Amino acid sequence: MTGDLPRIPLAGVIGAPIAHSRSPALHGYWLRRYGIKGHYIPMEIAQADLRDALQFLPRVGFVGLNVTIPHKETVLGLADIVTDRAALIGAANTLIFRKDGKIFADNTDGSGFIANLRQEAPQWQPTRGPAALFGAGGAARAVIAALIEVGVPEIRVANRTRARAEALRSDFGAKVMVHEWVQAANMLDGAVTVVNTTALGMTGKPEFHLPLDALDPRALVTDLVYTPLRTAFLEEAQAAGCTVVDGLGMLLHQAAPGFERWFGLRPEVDGATRAAVLSA
Ligand code: NAP
Repeated sequence: MTGDLPRIPLAGVIGAPIAHSRSPALHGYWLRRYGIKGHYIPMEIAQADLRDALQFLPRVGFVGLNVTIPHKETVLGLADIVTDRAALIGAANTLIFRKDGKIFADNTDGSGFIANLRQEAPQWQPTRGPAALFGAGGAARAVIAALIEVGVPEIRVANRTRARAEALRSDFGAKVMVHEWVQAANMLDGAVTVVNTTALGMTGKPEFHLPLDALDPRALVTDLVYTPLRTAFLEEAQAAGCTVVDGLGMLLHQAAPGFERWFGLRPEVDGATRAAVLSA
């Protein structure tokens, strides 16, 4: 009587394209590590099919999803419950299909960003001074929300398209100070936290280069790009004496809350997890 057997929980990641995603390797590793009966599946879903997919997948045993480009914004309008932080960021990366049929949408990118820095640089004290942040896309929004939440007093932002940085100031308030992209290096003066949230430095994109003369060697420098793991920006900041943290840990930490909600166990983010994802 198969009807009496508990359903094996299914989760996955939706996006278009999806082949590049490291999430299946990560969740697959955790499922094996903890001996959990469950599956995590990458699914390429076109924008036009998104609504139907979110109705159908819970019916066949899906307990939730990760969401990536280009669906992160659209899913907010299809969810029944949206967390305050997802609403503020304007995007969700984690969906939970609740037993009552409601779709719950959250954004864990910001908490993943902070958890990564706390783990990799325990001496980091973000409240001690300004943050300098480059970029103003979806990832920047999540990082700014998180930096404000942990008490960073001022967030200096520069973006190639200045209007997007100005929009961050109107959405997140006066702690956000907009600077000129061509003079972005000036933002480093006195910065305690320095973050590249642009796509520059990714394999196939130009490098992110900045004159680092104003960079305090006590600053913590991090890059959201994790392919390659060590960007030129991180190498140069390390050569200037700074503590540097790569972006892979953010990917691992943002995934943990979803895994816990879907499969019932908070997974460890540690060296073995990193190694499993890097070797996949
Ligand atoms: P997005 O919304 O498309 O934003 C891209 C950002 O990069 C914008 O600020 C854009 O500036 C800037 N940019 C792109 N090409 C540029 C160029 N040639 N010169 C100057 N600026 C350029 O993307 P996103 O979702 O914010 O993601 C940004 C990066 O973060 C990606 O590399 C992504 O893989 C990474 N990320 C990592 C994690 C993690 O877990 N580690 C999580 C999320 C994202 P304009 O506004 O002027 O176009």
